[in-house]
Amino acid sequence: MTQSHPSEVFEFQAEAKQLLHLMTHSLYSNREIFLRELISNASDACDKLRFEALDHPEYYESDAQARVRIDIDKKKKTLTITDNGIGMSRQEVIDNLGTIARSGTAKFLDQLSGDQKKDAALIGQFGVGFYSAFIVADEVEVYTRRVGLSADDGVHWRCKGEASYEIEPATLAERGTRVVLHLNKEAQSFLDEWTVRGLIKKYSDHITIPVEMKKIDGKDQDGGYEPVNSVQALWTRSRSEITDEEYQVFYKHIAHDYQEPLLWSHNSVEGKLTYTSLLYLPKHPLFELWQRDSAKGLKLYVRRTFILDDAEQFLPLYLRFVKGVVDSNDLPLNVSREILQDSPAVEKIKTALTKRVLDMLKKLSKNGAEYQSFWKSFGAVLKEGPVEDNANREKLAELLRFASTHDADAGEVVSLDLYLERMQPEQKKIYYLVGDTHAAVARSPLLESFRKKGIEVLLLSDRIDDWLMTYMTEYKDKAFQNIARGKLDEIEAAADKPAKPEAQDAVILRVADYLGDRAAEVRASQRLVDSPSCLVLNDYEMGAQMRKIMQAAGQEVPESAPTFELNLEHPLIRKLAAEQDAGRFADLVELVFDQAHLASGEDLADPVAFVNRVNKLLLAAN
Ligand code: ADP
Ligand code: MG
Repeated sequence: MTQSHPSEVFEFQAEAKQLLHLMTHSLYSNREIFLRELISNASDACDKLRFEALDHPEYYESDAQARVRIDIDKKKKTLTITDNGIGMSRQEVIDNLGTIARSGTAKFLDQLSGDQKKDAALIGQFGVGFYSAFIVADEVEVYTRRVGLSADDGVHWRCKGEASYEIEPATLAERGTRVVLHLNKEAQSFLDEWTVRGLIKKYSDHITIPVEMKKIDGKDQDGGYEPVNSVQALWTRSRSEITDEEYQVFYKHIAHDYQEPLLWSHNSVEGKLTYTSLLYLPKHPLFELWQRDSAKGLKLYVRRTFILDDAEQFLPLYLRFVKGVVDSNDLPLNVSREILQDSPAVEKIKTALTKRVLDMLKKLSKNGAEYQSFWKSFGAVLKEGPVEDNANREKLAELLRFASTHDADAGEVVSLDLYLERMQPEQKKIYYLVGDTHAAVARSPLLESFRKKGIEVLLLSDRIDDWLMTYMTEYKDKAFQNIARGKLDEIEAAADKPAKPEAQDAVILRVADYLGDRAAEVRASQRLVDSPSCLVLNDYEMGAQMRKIMQAAGQEVPESAPTFELNLEHPLIRKLAAEQDAGRFADLVELVFDQAHLASGEDLADPVAFVNRVNKLLLAAN
């Protein structure tokens, strides 16, 4: 094998080159993060070995104690990070350190802001941590051998931070990976033991395997290694001994986030099931949140042994923004995703953790400003809750927030409890309106009678809202009512509507006759004040938003005609009633009907015909 691969030179991909350039030229103000990234990779590699060794105990090669070592060579001006983890094969070296076919890279480059501190913080989040080595090194060498391969199958990778890298075979007696950094002129301070020890404490104290350095006792050069980090897994310590800062640093490590978390909850449960959980709410959406198929879930440990990175079985999908760790005593060490899927123990832990998160959110919701900002980040995800989680629907409903006619200007969102408090004495229902954009719902003609009477209406414009509301039938004994649907009852209707004179009833009949099947019903409106007409959904008809979602998903949507309501006092409708010429009558009806579609946020079937008709009427007006 060795002779078949002499030294070979490879070109980096364009994106990798761009990254390298950035690392070497732009991120110098926050150099020290390279150590956090390389130690984190080393610790990941040890975790991966532990997992694979469950099936292959021989992988330990008589050295089962995972460790990371940091060595400084002041003469050669190198800093070396060595781990006895899983190592990489030649192909893995090419895939992981060379090609960057990884999706994170492009996103990382997109997000760069030019603010060095922020950009440096993004490195870990987007899985481009290895390249941070080039912030401090003008040459990086990697010696690595994958477990299970023989000493001759080692690989030596080197790169001077330019367009290409070189790979040659190497004989490596020990498994794992050694990363040698040839420190550049500006990074010589990392040759100082105390500086490096300080950084390990700062960034890697929560790492659960020892990060070791040579003892500094002066004379003895071979004095052996000692751990610099505190090694004990954070969540296994008692809450009272852990500082906020320790919780925060740990969060940043597991979530790859550069900001502090909003809130966390750390609990140990003993009894039928014994487990510890440490759950965090992030302050802002992490980049994977909107990709439904990307990593989510908690880090799973079984009796302190790392098992899986994104165990999604421990929380429902609608809580996928939660980050954290669960450490169970009841699962087997060789647990697989399949076993997790049908384990009753996992199901019970999931129920308990869900409750825990909902309690955290409830606590957070007592703080108006903080909750508003949480809601802005994660509200649309939490709205999947009532759809997905029958058992917690009432609890979730308390946590929902909506834009409303009452606080529309302030941009505030209101809770259903506040809505109930502000209800008019005779009001019995919770009113809402759904549309594509906030602007469209906030200005809908359907609101006119409610505005006039001061009745609050919730304004829904998230993609999921129509879907959500099919699951929300009532809250604290008050039914929800979509104001775009059905007939209004007494209190909802605009007051002081005069009894309908004969002549105007005739206009309803004429319009209905003209439109035929295109309208399910034409009737005099009780909800309009300033607008001439509007469309109303029938009781079982699908809303426009839902219709669009279904169509986008390639589903067949049943044909249905809306109910068309006319405001009989509006001058335009009066004009319509007075119009004797059949052609002009038709033009006017078409126009008013099209306008009603537009005001509902719908697309016109024939926009050009609409424009032509408007133009014709404009010209006739002069
Ligand atoms: P990330 O750690 O987020 O995946 P990195 O850029 O830090 O991104 O690392 C890229 C990949 O290189 C890792 O996913 C891993 O497969 C591989 N790698 C890096 N360092 C090591 C190491 N010390 N041992 C084994 N594999 C490593
Ligand atoms: Mg990494």
